[in-house]
Amino acid sequence: MKNWKDNVRKVVPYTPGEQPKAKVIKLNTNENPYPPSPLVGNAISGVTLDSLRKYPDPACDILISAIAKYHGFDKENVFVGVGSDDVLAMGFLTFFNSNEPVLFPDITYSFYDVWAELFRIPYVVKPLDDDFKIIASDYEGSCGGIVIPNPNAPTGVAEPVSFFEEIIKAHPECVVIIDEAYVDFGYQSCIELTRKYDNVLVVRTFSKSRAMAGNRIGYAVGSKELIKYLSDCKFSFNSYTMDTITLAAGVASIEDDEYFKARVQDVIATREWTKGQLSELGFSFPDSKSNFIFAKHESVDAVHIFEELKKRGIYVRHFSKPERIADYLRISIGTDEEMRTFIAELSKIVK
Ligand SMILES: *Cc1c(COP(=O)(O)O)cnc(C)c1O
Repeated sequence: MKNWKDNVRKVVPYTPGEQPKAKVIKLNTNENPYPPSPLVGNAISGVTLDSLRKYPDPACDILISAIAKYHGFDKENVFVGVGSDDVLAMGFLTFFNSNEPVLFPDITYSFYDVWAELFRIPYVVKPLDDDFKIIASDYEGSCGGIVIPNPNAPTGVAEPVSFFEEIIKAHPECVVIIDEAYVDFGYQSCIELTRKYDNVLVVRTFSKSRAMAGNRIGYAVGSKELIKYLSDCKFSFNSYTMDTITLAAGVASIEDDEYFKARVQDVIATREWTKGQLSELGFSFPDSKSNFIFAKHESVDAVHIFEELKKRGIYVRHFSKPERIADYLRISIGTDEEMRTFIAELSKIVK
C-alpha cells in the first residue's frame, strides 16, 4: 500500500533556547539586556491603524535605504528579511545548489545543518581545533559553498578580515556567507570585502546588538548581482516579509546611532568584568568577542551548574552535542546587576 507519509519532507527542526513565562535572569538566548532606542518606541506608536489596512512595501524601501546609507552602500547592495534566520535560509536556497558539499564548522550555529537538511543540500562539517579555532586549510579546494559565523557561535571566537579574504579569494566557484550576528560587540566586519568580491554575502541581525529580537529584522550586504539573485528567490516565496511596524522600528534604530553604540559599549564592559569573575571561580573559556561567554568549569559538571542555576531562576544555555562541548555553558551577557547576581549564585554552586 502506498502511504502519503512516504512523500513527506521529514526534518529535525532547530531547537531555540527556552523562553520562560516567569520572570527570570535570562542569559540563554543572547538577547540584549537593554531595550532598543526610545526612538524605536516613538516610531512604533507613530504607525497609524489606517496604514495597517494596506500591505507593507514589498521593496522595504525605507529600511533598505537606511541600512544602505548607514554602511555607505547603494540600496541594490542590501537585502532584508525576517531576522537573519530568514536571510540565511534564503541564502542557502539561492546560492547552495551545487552537487558538491557546503562547508561549515562542526561547532557552530546549529541552524546551518537544519537548513541543509531541509533544502537537501549536501554538506560536510569541519572540526574546530582544540582552541575552538577554525582551521583555514579545511576550507581549501572546490566546494558547493561556505558559511561561517564571525565571531563564531557558541564559542565567541573571531577571526580577522584577512582570514576570510583568503577563503573568499580561493573560491570563485561558490558563494561564501559570513554570519555577523555578533560582530558589533567588538570585532572586524567583512562588509567592505563585498565591494571587492562578488561571491561574498555578509549577514547581520537587529536581534542582538540592536536589542530587537522581538521585531525580527535581519539583512545582508553583497554585490548587486548577488542581492538580485537573493531577491528573486525571496519574491518567488513571499513578497511581504517585513511588516509596516517593523520597517518603521528598524529605521528608527539605525537613526539613533549614539544610543546604539553606548549600549553596545555597556555590554562589552560587563562582558569583560564577567570574564574576570569567571576566571576567579575556576572557569576557562575561549576569548569572546560577542555578547556571550562559552565557559567550562575545572571540576564541576556543566549540567549540574545548569540545573542549579535554573532552580535559582537563572537561565543559561547548554548544548549536549557535539560531545566535546557538553562540558561548556553558554552564558549571555546581561545587565551589571544581573551578572552580579549570576556570579554570586554561581560561586555558591561551584565552591
Ligand atoms: C542569533 C543568531 C542568528 C539569528 O538571528 P535572528 O534573530 O534570526 O536575526 C543567526 N546566526 C547566529 C550565529 C546567531 O547567533
